[in-house]
Amino acid sequence: MRFNYFCPTRIFFGEGAINNNKSHLKKLGQKALIVTGGNSSKVNGSLKDMTNALENEGVKYKVFDQVEQNPSIDTAFKGGKEAREFGADFIISIGGGSPMDAAKAVSILAVNEISPQDLMDLKWSNQPLPNVAVPTTAGTGSEVTRAAVLTVDWAETKLSVADDSLFPVMAFLDARYMLNLPWQVTVNTAVDALSHAIEGFISKKSTLVTDLLALESAAIISQLLRHVNRDNITLPEREEFLYASLLAGLVIAQTSVSVVHALGYPITYHKGLPHGLSNGILTAAGMELCAQEYPEKVERMVKAMDCSSIKEVGELLQKALGPVNIKLTPEEQKEYAQKTLQHKNTANCPVTPTEKDLIQMLVKSNLT
Ligand code: FE
Repeated sequence: MRFNYFCPTRIFFGEGAINNNKSHLKKLGQKALIVTGGNSSKVNGSLKDMTNALENEGVKYKVFDQVEQNPSIDTAFKGGKEAREFGADFIISIGGGSPMDAAKAVSILAVNEISPQDLMDLKWSNQPLPNVAVPTTAGTGSEVTRAAVLTVDWAETKLSVADDSLFPVMAFLDARYMLNLPWQVTVNTAVDALSHAIEGFISKKSTLVTDLLALESAAIISQLLRHVNRDNITLPEREEFLYASLLAGLVIAQTSVSVVHALGYPITYHKGLPHGLSNGILTAAGMELCAQEYPEKVERMVKAMDCSSIKEVGELLQKALGPVNIKLTPEEQKEYAQKTLQHKNTANCPVTPTEKDLIQMLVKSNLT
């Protein structure tokens, strides 16, 4: 038996997480830059909870609310400049994966004046500022990971900057911020979390500990996808989604993701499909590919999801996600497969895929 497991994030989970634990914030310094998107954190109450907490604790703050979906490197540089000019001691992200990932890059760029290429190559000399995460969707798990996934135009895909110094030092998880999320956002993000659990479980980097977390996460999400009322998801159900997404985040913090994410990224980049949806439509085909090397693990995952076959997993996802009408030309299929072969996540797949395997995944996922 051999493994290592590292997660330095202090996790506060539950209703009132920020308010009940706000005294921890001032340990990080006098000034915080809050990194968020344009709208949702203002509507769901999370930004107000955080600014109230900071005011209570005597921490000055500034809000940088320019993070877009699938954040670009440019946005991270803008945030870094803002943090530097404000003299921030720490960074707080509020939002889905986009603000949380952008904030990690901001925490580097606040104290390192480097080029975009240096950022992607992990070439910085000053220790990034501490970052605190407040997720307002249940999917990415970025609140407990060391990776910032950014959209990189020169690579025409999403690439990650990953380093132990990027783990949030604290995460505040409160499912009340998700109460009014529409079904489509709920399901896309839940399926992202599910794909983290599945890819992390069927990965060359999986360990006994991550396996435990992954099976539990996948079991919870599969049950929720079957049983929740799409128009009225209760707070306890929202908490279950958030808990499962956290567990899956703890998995990929150790295993990172794999071939489904690597093939999903170019689909998101070129076709604008939400990240979780791209993963969801590829998941069953990804499991089939991995079953060539890890048949027992694939079977255990299928069972944990209370399904009888990979086909049933695909049907469960399809039913939850709804129809997707994207067809890729033969040229696009080849191009996306090539990008996937070059992506570092693909190396975590137990099978070393060929271009033909990847095109086959697209075919099986009804994308051709
Ligand atoms: Fe993901």
